[in-house]
Amino acid sequence: MKTKAIALLSGGLDSILAAQQVKEEGVEVTALHFNNPFSVSPEGQKKELLGKISNQLGLKLNNEALGKDYLSIIKKPKFGYGKNLNPCIDCRIYMLRKTKQYMKSSGASFIVTGEVLGQRPMSQHHKALFDIEKESGLKEMILRPLSAKLFPETIPEKKGWVERNNLLSISGRSRKIQLQLADKYKIKDYFWAGGGCLLTDSNFCRRLEDIIKIDQLNLANIELLKVGRHFRFGPSFKFIVGRDEKENQKLDYLKKENDYLFKPIDQAGPTGLGRGKINESIKELCTKIITRYSSGDQDFKIRITNDKEKIDEVYKAEMPENNKYRSFII
Ligand code: SF4
Repeated sequence: MKTKAIALLSGGLDSILAAQQVKEEGVEVTALHFNNPFSVSPEGQKKELLGKISNQLGLKLNNEALGKDYLSIIKKPKFGYGKNLNPCIDCRIYMLRKTKQYMKSSGASFIVTGEVLGQRPMSQHHKALFDIEKESGLKEMILRPLSAKLFPETIPEKKGWVERNNLLSISGRSRKIQLQLADKYKIKDYFWAGGGCLLTDSNFCRRLEDIIKIDQLNLANIELLKVGRHFRFGPSFKFIVGRDEKENQKLDYLKKENDYLFKPIDQAGPTGLGRGKINESIKELCTKIITRYSSGDQDFKIRITNDKEKIDEVYKAEMPENNKYRSFII
């Protein structure tokens, strides 16, 4: 019977090559992908690409959503943040602990990752990688085929499940060897940088910090952070304005029962979504902001709707005075 392994598949080239390398050793590899709410790539696009990748590699693909418990490490990571709000070490530990459960339930003997020594400043240097292994309870059970020869032997190597001489010794940020391997294996479909993580984006993290501060970190609010211009009017009200038609539609889609939608009537202009406790002066300010980003004239009118309270009002909107609205931008 073949030895089994679980390969973490982010969709980035390194994770694909790592899985391929271990498969070539005659190991039965199953892929596991974590759906990260902070991924730059839209879910549909990711799903399609991951489907293509796993088909090409001939791997069964499992998906695991990073949910509520994942958010708690974003708020208070034991090993701290990288340059922005990216808690990379805690994030890896979290994913590997989950993978360990998969490993046990599927009868696999070890885990494969595409990590490359020295590629990422926070989580891919010797000490961090050892801390990650120790904290996830996977000492010597994680095989990193792309840099394996730069690390002490792991159990899969010691047991002869994979041949150490066939593994690689890549280090650093250059992608040269990986691109050569992609050519060799005819791998054309993959995400650059594993699909990208918004926790490393300073603009996104400014907005994220805002919802962490007021204790509103949840999956629905994270989705909103990815769309439009954001304004904060005190701890209990947030306003988001679409920057194009696609974002206006996205705001329609993301609207929850208690949210307010602001839409220009009979004129082109952005959609605004208000979340939280509203009052007359906030409504007025929101309508002015909508006007600011529209081509509206003095007769510009905006309809405000809220499902629950059945509000449907028409406002005559004015431009905000002296760019005052700017102080509310997050
Ligand atoms: S970049 Fe994002 S997904 Fe990757 S390890 Fe860091 S926090 Fe996790």
